[in-house]
Amino acid sequence: MPEGGVSNNRATLYIVATPIGNLDDISLRAIRVLREVDRIAAEDTRHSRRLLQHHGIDRPMLALHEHNERQAVKKVLQLLEQGQNLALISDAGTPLISDPGFPLVRACREAGIRVSPLPGPSALIAALSVSGLPVDSFCFHGFLPRSPGPRRDRLQALAAETSTQVFYESSHRILHALRDMVEVLDAGREVCVARELTKQYEDVMQGSLAEVLAMVEADGMRQRGEFVIVLAGAPARETNLPSAEAMRVLDVLLDELPLKQASALAARITGEKKNLLYRLALERR
Ligand code: SAM
Repeated sequence: MPEGGVSNNRATLYIVATPIGNLDDISLRAIRVLREVDRIAAEDTRHSRRLLQHHGIDRPMLALHEHNERQAVKKVLQLLEQGQNLALISDAGTPLISDPGFPLVRACREAGIRVSPLPGPSALIAALSVSGLPVDSFCFHGFLPRSPGPRRDRLQALAAETSTQVFYESSHRILHALRDMVEVLDAGREVCVARELTKQYEDVMQGSLAEVLAMVEADGMRQRGEFVIVLAGAPARETNLPSAEAMRVLDVLLDELPLKQASALAARITGEKKNLLYRLALERR
């Protein structure tokens, strides 16, 4: 069980989440671990130094970014195998989430090296938490393809998904992405566009796709910065839903019985399909 600082027993790679804007959004344990590790692997060492200086952290750094990832992974593995403790940070938020780090974590896992998370900010979770859209089931897609054809194809492929859909977007493509969503999806579908979260010009826009597109089009300032698009899922098809009464019966039984028994009994009482009730029961749990 991890305690406060770095482990003395076993070399560890710490995956440390850092702020997505406000430099104070970092955990006390993250600061402690960053002060104690032998070395910090960072996506952009110059960028991260500002954050580290702000918190009085002064450890040797090494660069690990998408252009040198293969060599950097080798180097980090060597240091860990020599018994050093290392931390991985990215420019913002949680490493590996649309950021470098996956090959490194994979290689550590394969080599039996301990990898320990220091959880903290991630733009997708921050945006979801204020979106006002359902968060019980969501799907994160990272960035949409840059070119229009593949971007629209991707949106088309996701059009019938009923869970909330989350995308990252940059200032270069926010208008294109929203315009494509209006064209490919239903312009009335609800969306939340979260811009510059935790920063000075934090701005959360919500409404239908057509309304939010109009807000962004009308104001050049609102096209700047970093964005998370949180898109409501497609409405569930009526034929896939049992009656409200069946759901009420299922909920009552789920309070008292194991999931399988509750859904089988609810199906017998209401005449609905057992498989459908079982799937919904799983979602409820
Ligand atoms: N690893 C990061 C995380 O955990 O959120 C994401 C890194 S990804 C390279 C950068 C993208 O995250 C931006 O283009 C934007 O879509 C989103 N993002 C990062 N910071 C943000 C912020 N403060 N407000 C809104 N979106 C942000």
